Amino acid sequence: MTEPNPIHVFRPVFRVEECLAEIRQCLERGWVGLGWKTEEIEKAWKVYTGLAHARFVSSGTAALHLAVRSLKIARHWDEGDEVITTPLTFVSTNQVLLEERLTPVFADVDEHLCLDPAKIDPLVGPRTRAVVFVGLGGQTGRLPAVADLCRKRGLALILDAAHLAGARLSGRHVGREGDVAAWSFHAVKNLGTGDSGMISFADRDLDELARELSWHGIDRDTWSRTTGAVPGYRWRYSVRERGMKYNGNSIQASIALVGLRYLDQDNERRRAIHARYAGALAVRPPGLDLVPEPPDCVGSGHMFRVLSERRDDLIAYLNARSIYPGVHYDLSTAHPIFASHIRACPRAELAASRLVTLPCHLAMSDGDVERVASEVLLFHQAVSGP
Ligand SMILES: *Cc1c(COP(=O)(O)O)cnc(C)c1O
Repeated sequence: MTEPNPIHVFRPVFRVEECLAEIRQCLERGWVGLGWKTEEIEKAWKVYTGLAHARFVSSGTAALHLAVRSLKIARHWDEGDEVITTPLTFVSTNQVLLEERLTPVFADVDEHLCLDPAKIDPLVGPRTRAVVFVGLGGQTGRLPAVADLCRKRGLALILDAAHLAGARLSGRHVGREGDVAAWSFHAVKNLGTGDSGMISFADRDLDELARELSWHGIDRDTWSRTTGAVPGYRWRYSVRERGMKYNGNSIQASIALVGLRYLDQDNERRRAIHARYAGALAVRPPGLDLVPEPPDCVGSGHMFRVLSERRDDLIAYLNARSIYPGVHYDLSTAHPIFASHIRACPRAELAASRLVTLPCHLAMSDGDVERVASEVLLFHQAVSGP
């Protein structure tokens, strides 16, 4: 018997010739850094999303860090001020809070596995400054209710939109609900470039501050000095704040420009894979559940998750059949750096012990999806008994 083809949880697919054509322009012109293609992708992103501002940066983590630091500076937050956040996310969401010496206060999730507004409300205190909402898996949970709560309680809302490129909420692209949205174009995200990301502030001054902070705090970049967009001396600049080196470059932007052209088409294929999984798993044994999507959202389709009471055994069973699902994510509070911030979040804890991300990507055929679904069912039928 021959081994079946391995099916991995993610597999980036690139339009190679189109990417190379964009990158070739950079190499031939001799401009591979900040500017030109990075401006092009910022403009294209604003047109595509309808958002007012966009800065292309080196990663989603950079975008999140810039979001938090810019707000902290502009709104005069103190060290030790609190930010309410989810424990069920990639560590980088919460690591940037520690980096800025803010205190993460972990709240529980709802059935969509995103922050539950009812669980946020009682945690708001005199030192609460912001909420970080993660659109886990590519859908928006109760984001509109969280945005209302933040407005009423005077809190900033930071959207970790790492999974949300192309996602629509009530017909419009997500990202305008709060103060800022941070996007990841990491290698295996649904708009993958290797590494890069985007930050979209609603406020113009914060957008400007984030741009400065993304480039050492320098008030004008080499592109604007080279193109004469900024009057005055070409070599003179000033630094007002301690900045980082978080800008994106023209090579990354080239790949992002091509990916963005196909984002809607690609997300549609991901959602078709979701529909096929949901159909195949509609009738299922006890001990296996799906994660419901909110009705007002057309998600990015980035992840298709199931909840299995026998999660570790299911993964071992699938691995033995050349199927390699993922787990997104273990709780932040499972990591030693968050040990002093542990709070009971029963729903997130249960989900973290049961979550499995099934393979979902553009290199999968419908037959691959059927094969994964039927193996998941076979395992659960066998363990749930007659
Ligand atoms: C990937 C990811 C990030 C970080 O993005 P990078 O581009 O890898 O830095 C942040 N939050 C979530 C939820 C992610 O999945």
